[in-house]
Amino acid sequence: MTYHPGRHFLQIPGPTNVPDRVLRAMDMPTIDHRGPGFAGLTLEILPGLKKVFKTEGDVVIYPASGTGAWEAALVNTLSPGDRVLMFETGHFATLWHGIASDLGLEVEFVPGDWRHGADPAEVEARLSADKNHAIKSVMVVHNETSTGCASRIGQIRGAIDAAGHPALFMVDVISSLGSIDYRHDEWQVDVTVAGSQKGLMLPPGLSFNAISAKALAASEASKLPKSFWRWQPMLDNNKDGYFPYTPATNLLYALREALRMLDEEGLDRVFARHRRHAEATRRAVRAWDLEILCQNPDEYSDSLTAILVPDGHDADALRKLILGRFDMSLGTGLGKVAGKVFRIGHLGDFNDLMLAGTLAGVEMGLMRSGMPFCPGGVDAALEYLARED
Ligand SMILES: *Cc1c(COP(=O)(O)O)cnc(C)c1O
Repeated sequence: MTYHPGRHFLQIPGPTNVPDRVLRAMDMPTIDHRGPGFAGLTLEILPGLKKVFKTEGDVVIYPASGTGAWEAALVNTLSPGDRVLMFETGHFATLWHGIASDLGLEVEFVPGDWRHGADPAEVEARLSADKNHAIKSVMVVHNETSTGCASRIGQIRGAIDAAGHPALFMVDVISSLGSIDYRHDEWQVDVTVAGSQKGLMLPPGLSFNAISAKALAASEASKLPKSFWRWQPMLDNNKDGYFPYTPATNLLYALREALRMLDEEGLDRVFARHRRHAEATRRAVRAWDLEILCQNPDEYSDSLTAILVPDGHDADALRKLILGRFDMSLGTGLGKVAGKVFRIGHLGDFNDLMLAGTLAGVEMGLMRSGMPFCPGGVDAALEYLARED
């Protein structure tokens, strides 16, 4: 092992760099989760979480990765054989589809090219064609972390309403919550699925379901088998600040601190910061004469950018070179785009100079890689960052 001085740059789109404040907040004795000191922690966290989801409804916290919260959303609301509508926006949508199939749901999986988000017009057309309301739920990944395309959730809500369809609406915000504006209540989402290790700036290990009244009603009729993921015992225990089984206590300390940080900065400023860093990154990519994977500017992700390498070149070789030489991790290409793209994560606890360092690491990697590109990406980004607020 070579010793690397200074900080490692963790520029994958999650897990993200955990801020020192959050690390220090976790460095605490684990307390009795059934003792009197515990309830205050939960009761401070839950209202703070609701603000981030923009909901007045319930939010459930699981000691699990995001995948667990995906499963929880389905098993709490649906029954075996239920038809659901999903969109192949990329790798994560494909994984969620896999869980739905494993659970015995009948998935209508709308194919996609991995360069666009879910199309609101397609949502409306599919739901309008479903005259008997056989489709019980529509599931969309908000920010498709494998491609850097963000689906327009507000417009998709509009499409469901335009079709006059009663299906539940479930959205994965694992890599957008705390980075890209999201409105659980306003967009009448029934279950929002989130995780700790991306925009929320925590280590991996927590995940969330934000739940509408309609979803809660659906959970009473739902027949998919469930035990660990069952919402009701969570909701009952959470009322007094407790959990039905051992919570991830030290991650909850971390969550409390991260929520305070988001509150101090203000969500609108958090979103503007992500938007600005995404724009600076895209300017660098264009100056390098490389191609952004996402083809619809209205769907550019503010939390990451996926970049195609020229034909005949290996994106993972570039990533390996940058890791070895500059101690920076970039996101790998997943699924259908493996080897073809690398991803720059610009989400979470991140600022202008960290972005400048990140882009400098990519540009120096390109210089050493022998890949065809134009220098000047860092300059283009700095020009933008220096002038734009
Ligand atoms: C990271 C991610 C997941 C998977 O979450 P895990 O915590 O790895 O289980 C799911 N969906 C999206 C959009 C993600 O970015």
